[in-house]
Amino acid sequence: MSNDLHYNFFQSVEKSFDKAAPYTEWDAGLLEQIKACNAVYRMRFPVKMDDGHIEVIEAYRVQHSQHKTPCKGGIRFAAEVNQDEVMALAALMTYKCAIVNVPFGGGKGGIKIDPRKHSAYELEKITRRYTSELVKKNFIGPGIDVPAPDYGTGEREMAWIVDTYTSLKPGEIDGLGCVTGKPITQGGVRGRKEATGLGVFFGIQEVCNMPEIMTKRGMSIGLEGKTVVVQGLGNVGYHSAKFFRERGGCKVIAIAEYEGAVYNENGLNEEELFQHRKTTGSILNFPGATNIIPSSAALELECDILIPAALENVINSYNADRIKARIIGEAANGPCTPEADEVFAEKGILCVPDMYLNAGGVTVSYFEWLKNLSHVRYGRMEKRFTENLNGHILGQMETLTGKQVSNEERNFIMHGPEEVDLVHSGLEETMITATREVMDCWHKNPSIPDMRTAAYVVAINKVATSYTALGIFP
Ligand code: NAD
Repeated sequence: MSNDLHYNFFQSVEKSFDKAAPYTEWDAGLLEQIKACNAVYRMRFPVKMDDGHIEVIEAYRVQHSQHKTPCKGGIRFAAEVNQDEVMALAALMTYKCAIVNVPFGGGKGGIKIDPRKHSAYELEKITRRYTSELVKKNFIGPGIDVPAPDYGTGEREMAWIVDTYTSLKPGEIDGLGCVTGKPITQGGVRGRKEATGLGVFFGIQEVCNMPEIMTKRGMSIGLEGKTVVVQGLGNVGYHSAKFFRERGGCKVIAIAEYEGAVYNENGLNEEELFQHRKTTGSILNFPGATNIIPSSAALELECDILIPAALENVINSYNADRIKARIIGEAANGPCTPEADEVFAEKGILCVPDMYLNAGGVTVSYFEWLKNLSHVRYGRMEKRFTENLNGHILGQMETLTGKQVSNEERNFIMHGPEEVDLVHSGLEETMITATREVMDCWHKNPSIPDMRTAAYVVAINKVATSYTALGIFP
């Protein structure tokens, strides 16, 4: 087996693409164009740090495809950021958006810094300078390229970006749509923060409700009582754990962070663990749980569902053989290498691929962008109307039948949608449809080796259809 630990990430995305291409009927030249990264902007800029010294910051923005615009993709702050990684993540965004029917091309950004080594003020200066560089090169804008949070960034950084953008482009009516994942008070949408984790949950729930998938693996249908291991207690890992526990009735038996992992066969509560880490600085020594060191050993625990939600390449040719989970839900981007995929195929482990499973973030980002362009909160126009109408129908039914519904039922039936209800419902619909489309493609062509390849086939077909309809300029 090859050494895939230092695998070129972009090459590994291309490898997955090439594995899927033979299951499509598109021209080789068109496939080359779909694979290529259309634009890579590598920048360096100086930032004066708190102690007065000047640091030269290396950063990137990649636009993989403009078959639909704007381009869309998160911005990552990490010491490991490099051009290859940003290109790979941008390519994944193109395929991801296609699978979940979000009309964007793929993009991605990265700043090569360790955010933990900078003060909030330094991070703000870095983020604002990065945004201004993007503005100068026309690499950001509601109709051009719309960043979002990713590893190491969150709504705070997105607020700095929108503020910088709108300051540099005063009066641009749709300016708020230049970035998503913003705080709700600054044009964000309710439900964005938990979107990726909730999407992972909806996707895996749909897979677990498919009798042919579950019986083949000797597993019961549904999520109730299933054991789950989560790697990463960041945004995606935390919310995945929360929804598997709360909505799925699963037992999250282990959670791993970079300092180690904790295990409790009766299940962990992610919020209590999060608070414990906040107070003590580590997830280790959590009351009632056993420590696991090194952290990566948690990936090899016996469980039904493994959710890697930290970084890429964590399951590779070195440890894939030791994975005991029966379903892997790729919440992070690129956590399993192509070599690991081959091991899973041999062992009958179902790996539900990142490229659509973690699309909850971009799906809700799309809803946020639409909200910004329409300048009105979801639910504002219809909530009261729906409640009044439902109240009227209920009243008529009670009069006609002479019976009264319980208060609990009344509240449920009367309820008009809030923004968060509509966002969650749109996300559920998106993830269920995407899961079924990918599974359908796999079932129609059983020689496709795995679900990732089936997902790529679905994505290639959609992007190629777009290119074919558009033609090639000039
Ligand atoms: P985050 O920074 O909020 O959380 C990542 C967590 O992983 C951190 O707590 C970090 O300490 C931990 N971690 C790092 N290395 C680890 C290791 N070796 N073992 C265990 N834990 C480790 O980032 P996030 O937004 O949750 O993103 C996580 C992954 O999900 C990334 O791959 C990202 O690209 C992907 N993703 C994020 C979103 C989103 O909406 N945030 C959307 C799609 C995909």
